[in-house]
Amino acid sequence: MAVDQAFTPGDLTQQLIDNDWWTDALVAEAGIPIIDSPFVTVGGGMGSFMTVDLLRIAGAQTSQMKVLTSTDYPWQTYEYLTRCSQIPVNERIRSDSSSMPDNFWGFPSFALREARQDKSLASLWSVFSEPIFTDYWTPRLRMVFAGMKEEADRIDWWSMCTKGQVRMIRRRQGGGYFVILTPPEGTASTKRVAYRAQHVHLAIGYPGVKFLDDLQAYRTTYDDHYRVVNAYEPHEHVYEELQKRPGTVVIRGSGVVASRVLQRLIDDRDNNGAQTTILHVFRTYISGPHGDSIFNRRQGADGWAYQGFNYPKGAWGGQHWDRCRKLEGDDRANFYKRIGGTNTPKRKSWRAQLKRGRDEGWYKIFIGQVTEVVPGDEGMVISRIKQPDTGAILEAPASFIIDCTGLEADLREHRVMADLLDHGGAGRNPLGRLDVSREFVVRGTESEPGRLYATGSMTLGGYFCGVDTFLGLQLAAVDVMDDLARRGFIKRVGVTRSISQWAKRMRHRQP
Ligand SMILES: Cc1cc2nc3c(=O)[nH]c(=O)nc-3n(C[C@H](O)[C@H](O)[C@H](O)COP(=O)(O)OP(=O)(O)OC[C@H]3O[C@@H](n4cnc5c(N)ncnc54)[C@H](O)[C@@H]3O)c2cc1C
Repeated sequence: MAVDQAFTPGDLTQQLIDNDWWTDALVAEAGIPIIDSPFVTVGGGMGSFMTVDLLRIAGAQTSQMKVLTSTDYPWQTYEYLTRCSQIPVNERIRSDSSSMPDNFWGFPSFALREARQDKSLASLWSVFSEPIFTDYWTPRLRMVFAGMKEEADRIDWWSMCTKGQVRMIRRRQGGGYFVILTPPEGTASTKRVAYRAQHVHLAIGYPGVKFLDDLQAYRTTYDDHYRVVNAYEPHEHVYEELQKRPGTVVIRGSGVVASRVLQRLIDDRDNNGAQTTILHVFRTYISGPHGDSIFNRRQGADGWAYQGFNYPKGAWGGQHWDRCRKLEGDDRANFYKRIGGTNTPKRKSWRAQLKRGRDEGWYKIFIGQVTEVVPGDEGMVISRIKQPDTGAILEAPASFIIDCTGLEADLREHRVMADLLDHGGAGRNPLGRLDVSREFVVRGTESEPGRLYATGSMTLGGYFCGVDTFLGLQLAAVDVMDDLARRGFIKRVGVTRSISQWAKRMRHRQP
């Protein structure tokens, strides 16, 4: 990539762009101010928060760490994505009572917190009897955010944050890294600021929204972003229009977000007078329990694969966790295929809604592969669906199509990731995401004695499949913390420190 030949002090020069390893002098010659910080985390979302929280518990000072982020608070992007995908703050999320972003120990749990707040034992009974007599108990979003705010105040998160967009991370000759930040316009005297860090942690979430190919082709060809929408982008206009006049909506996908969107459409039918007909397209229809052995069975019915969490519970600390850590290459990719796949929690509420829809004829299922989406008459969009048995093409006209399938775009769609692949020595894992070691070090990017760590969805395909969850981000943070302790950045957290830190947390004292 080339930049302007004219020299702008404080900006990237061609020499910097072209060099994989930078010297202090090269950065200084470009007029980019350098700020030293032993540890920098990039992203400032849930993953950064849980890592910094743990490092503070382990004894790291706020003066040793910087959080470079484009957001105002750590749950901002997560809040945005949940709101778009129909999980408002009063709704319950997917993860369980002890997956607590604000409490590394998981005790007292969310269920205990709710019992205390509501002065009711209902949540505790639910946790006690799940999943046999009740669905898994899960906390309300509002409680998760309130807990994080309290913990952020306690660890003095805010004093470590610097606003801006991280442009790239390059290795430094002599050890460590330069993290280049573009501060918000008008807030700095130069276009870029360089953070010189011994260790860097990357937690930048999802590289982007991914559309199904046929839907992307439709949006690009017909420039129609109104009728064909993704569940992870704002699409409130769909529900508003369907409340005003009867319409038909096509749903693509069969994961938890599809369940949420269906729930919203049916709630609007029940409570707001909408007369929506729902056409649900399943590419793969699950008709019953499935799996490749009696030890690897998953419940399923009516098209859906049911599972409480996105992987079996053993993925976070049981036999699946242990097995995954030992697998390489294709064996690991196959392991992911065996225990993963699209699924949704089996909840009585939305199963009852869908049954009612099937019985009353306003929820219809189509099985097949959508080959094409084209405009129809009177502002309709037509999905052409190829039948799996006959190959015949069936046309499904609708007022809207909601794509509930994809959030994961390719790594390269994120600028920092593309730069790391091209100039940072990073590579891909068996699933095509960022290749990290068991300690979450990005392989190939070592800059002795410095390390670049990455956690979150971009590392899916590594030695731990639960990475893109609260508990997974926390467990990954433990591995990062232990590795940093081995490198002398912090002391190793033993039982005594863990207990004393838990006691401090309970008394709302700083770590
Ligand atoms: C709809 C939805 C529901 C989910 N529900 C659950 C659940 O119930 N339980 C559970 O355990 N997990 C859940 N997850 C999964 C996961 O726990 C969350 O997505 C979590 O937010 C991931 O944290 P993260 O730090 O990886 O990403 P984020 O929280 O998205 O943080 C990444 C941050 O990096 C910032 N960033 C990106 N690029 C740059 C850059 N160049 N410079 C500066 N900043 C940058 C972004 O703006 C963002 O704020 C859910 C995910 C989604 C999408």
